Amino acid sequence: MTQTLSPNHELAARLRESRLKDGLKHFIGGEWVDSQSGETFHTHTPTDNSHLTTVASGDAADIDRAARAAHDAFQTWREASGSERRKILHKVADLIEKRAQEIAVLESVDTGQAMRFMKSAAVRGAENFRFYADRAPGAADGQSLPAPGFLNYTLRQPIGPVGVITPWNTPFMLSTWKIAPALAAGCTVVHKPAEWSPVTATLLAEIMDEAGLPKGVHNLVHGFGESAGKALTEHPLIHAIAFVGETTTGSHIMRQGADTLKRVHFELGGKNPVVVFDDADLDKALDAVVFMIYSLNGERCTSSSRVLIQEGIYDEFTARIAERAKNIRVGDPLDPNTEVGPLIHPRHFEKVISYFGKAQEDGATIAAGGQQVGEQGNFVTPTLFTQARNNMRIAQEEIFGPVLTAIPFADESEALSIANDVRYGLAGYLWTNDLTRAHRFAQGLEAGMVWVNSENVRHLPTPFGGVKNSGIGRDGGDYSFDFYMETKNIAISLGTHKTAKLGVGQPPVVDKTVAEG
Ligand code: NAD
Repeated sequence: MTQTLSPNHELAARLRESRLKDGLKHFIGGEWVDSQSGETFHTHTPTDNSHLTTVASGDAADIDRAARAAHDAFQTWREASGSERRKILHKVADLIEKRAQEIAVLESVDTGQAMRFMKSAAVRGAENFRFYADRAPGAADGQSLPAPGFLNYTLRQPIGPVGVITPWNTPFMLSTWKIAPALAAGCTVVHKPAEWSPVTATLLAEIMDEAGLPKGVHNLVHGFGESAGKALTEHPLIHAIAFVGETTTGSHIMRQGADTLKRVHFELGGKNPVVVFDDADLDKALDAVVFMIYSLNGERCTSSSRVLIQEGIYDEFTARIAERAKNIRVGDPLDPNTEVGPLIHPRHFEKVISYFGKAQEDGATIAAGGQQVGEQGNFVTPTLFTQARNNMRIAQEEIFGPVLTAIPFADESEALSIANDVRYGLAGYLWTNDLTRAHRFAQGLEAGMVWVNSENVRHLPTPFGGVKNSGIGRDGGDYSFDFYMETKNIAISLGTHKTAKLGVGQPPVVDKTVAEG
C-alpha cells in the first residue's frame, strides 16, 4: 500500500534534498565557506536520530576571519542612515514571511518542535525584524540635560562588532530576537548558533544577504561551544556577547570574556512558578498551566515547570492537569495534529527521562506520563509529578522537557516563599481574582517578568530577562539598544561659566640648590 505524504512531509523531503544534501557552510564576509581546517560535524533529526546534514565545524581561525569581516564592515554599517537600515531590515522581514513555511518545516525537522508552533515562531521572527526596523532611525536618540552654563546632550552609538550565541530551542526566533536589534543599532554581527540545531541560522544568513545587507555586516560561524563559541567570546575585535543558553555556560562566557572586558547580556535558565490560588478562574488557569509546560516540548526558558496550587484545590486541579497531559498528542512533529514532538537530542532525552526515577527516589508520585514513547527517536509522554516538595530535584533543577512538578501551598506567604526558593528568577505566573493580592504577590516574586492571570504573552516593547541565575540585562524595546550601544554625553558650554585659572600669579622662586641637588 502506498502511503500519501502530507504537504509538510513532501516539503521536508524536497528541502532535505535541495538544501541539506550538500551540507551547511559558514557565511563570512558575504561568502559561503568551509572551515579553514576542513572539519565538519553531523546533525541528526530527533524523530529517529538519523543523519540530517553535515555542518562546517568552525574553530578559532574561522571566528577570527568572521570577526575581522565584522570589524571591516562596521564603519560602513554604522554610517548607513537609520532609514537605510530600516529599509533593509523590513526587506528581511518580508523574505522571512515569504519563506515562513520553509523555515517552519526545516526548524521542525532539525529540532523536533511541532509544526503547529513553528509556523508562528517563523512569523514572530519577521515581527522582530519589523519592530527593530522601525526603531532603527531613532536608535541614536538621547536626552537633553541642560545645566547652568551648559547644554548636555546624550546620544547613542553602536558598540561595534558583537557576538551572538544562541541555543537549540526555537533557534530561528531567538536568533532574530538578538540579531535584529544589533543590526538596527548599527552593530555588525558574528553569530554562533547551537550545534544541535544549525539549519535555520543558515537560512537566516541567506535571507539577510538576499535582502541586501552589505557584506560582512552579518557573519555566521557554525561549531561547538568549546571551540567556536569560546573563540568568539575571547576575540579582541568583538565588543559584546549576547548569549542565550544555560546558566553554567553563562559563567564560562563571563570568565572567557574577562581578559577582553566583554560586555555581556545573558538570558539563562529558569524554573518558573505558576501560582494558582483557589479564587482564580480555574478553567483559564488550567489552559495556561497546560500550555506553558507542554507547548514547544517544554523546551522553553519561560515554561512554568513548577505549579504551586492552593491546598483546597490541589487534588482536583492536579487531576485535571493529569487528564489533559494524558490526552496530549505526542508524535511526528511534521503532523499538524501533533502537540508534543521528540526532544532535541538523545543526550537531552536521557537527561529528561532521568528525572522520572529521581522524582520517585525523592518521594513524588508520577500522576501522568513518566515514560518513553516508541522504540526510536526522543519521544517522552507529557509528565506530571504530584505530592512534590520544593526541595526535591524535580522542583529545583531545570529539566527543560514536557515535565511539570505540582507543589501544594497553604496561604499567600507560603506560596511566595516556595516560589522564590530556587536559584532561578526568569518568569512567574500568578492566578488570582484578588486584585490587591495580585499586586502584592507580583511585586514580591523574584522574577524578571510576571504575568497575572495569563500565560506568557509577549509584547515587544516590554523588557525581557531574568534575575538571580536566570540572566543579566534586558532585551526588548529600547532595552536592547542600551546593550548594543554606548551612551555618550556631550557638554557644550554657553560661554558663561568661569574656568579656574592656574599659573597666573608671580612665577615661583626656585631654590636652585634644591632644584639641582
Ligand atoms: P547551552 O548553554 O548548552 O548552549 C547555548 C550556546 O552556547 C550554544 O550555541 C553552545 O554551542 C554555546 N556554548 C557552549 N559552551 C560555550 C562556551 N564555553 N563558550 C561560548 N559558547 C558556548 O544551552 P542549550 O542547551 O543550547 O539551551 C538550553 C538552555 O538555554 C536552557 O537552560 C534554557 O533555559 C536556556 N534558554 C534561556 C532563554 C532565556 O531567555 N532566558 C531562552 C532560551 C533558552
